Amino acid sequence: MRNEPRLAPFELIDRELTRLLRRFGPHRAVIHTEFPFWRMSKDDVWEVERSHLVSTTAKGDAHKSSLMKHDIHGGLLEADYEVLGHDPELAWRIAKSLAEAHFPGTLHDDLFRATGIEIGAPGQRDPEPRHFPDQVREADAFEEYRRRRRDSTFSRAVLDAYDSQCAVCEFAVRVEDTPVALDAAHIKWHGAGGPPEIPNGLALCALHHRLFDYGVFTMLGNLEIRVIRNASGRGFPESLGRFDGKLMRTPARRDHWPAAEYLRWHRRQVFKSRAMSP
Ligand SMILES: [Zn+2]
Repeated sequence: MRNEPRLAPFELIDRELTRLLRRFGPHRAVIHTEFPFWRMSKDDVWEVERSHLVSTTAKGDAHKSSLMKHDIHGGLLEADYEVLGHDPELAWRIAKSLAEAHFPGTLHDDLFRATGIEIGAPGQRDPEPRHFPDQVREADAFEEYRRRRRDSTFSRAVLDAYDSQCAVCEFAVRVEDTPVALDAAHIKWHGAGGPPEIPNGLALCALHHRLFDYGVFTMLGNLEIRVIRNASGRGFPESLGRFDGKLMRTPARRDHWPAAEYLRWHRRQVFKSRAMSP
């Protein structure tokens, strides 16, 4: 999608992927970029050149140092690279479905920008894709309809449970009696199997929703708000820093409170800091 050569040196992929995983992945002391680079070749979508030179671990994974030392290149299979190069709409749909399967919607724009995928920007795309039969488009539309319905039922239930106030800052602006810029966030992401149920939801204002999905803050088991240690900048103390160590605002009904298992998932998979024990 960026018109780059099919094969890229591992060294370059390592650098870019490390940057992306640090930003969009959970906190990890070591980032294993060699795992996808090496393992994808077993999925019939990816080719690793001169792989016989690479030394592997007992589990069959490549040693990073060996990929570096031999300047190993990897990339999509030739046929797939050709097809995707000629069909940006298809490439975009694949990118979008990958993002939808693995990340909450609040992160999609940032994710595409960070990966240099601009093709989905509004107005740039062919509004009427020609390459897909009607059944595919209808199936897509039905899936979209189901998703919207599920989301709106979940949203309404969560906002009601929280009396339409942000669980962090109590933001509760209404226009004509309708809450604005207030979201129902999934604690455990939908793409990770988090169910659309109130104990997996939080009412959060748009700002705190984004910061939560980015892992800038989380909640401990006792519902105390915990903010990462290395955030700073103008607006930070007022908008987030001051809530560190405070208890979040809970729903009136005890069975609507966030469930421990979903919070644990968020601390392990999203929160960006190890400054606390999981
Ligand atoms: Zn808020």
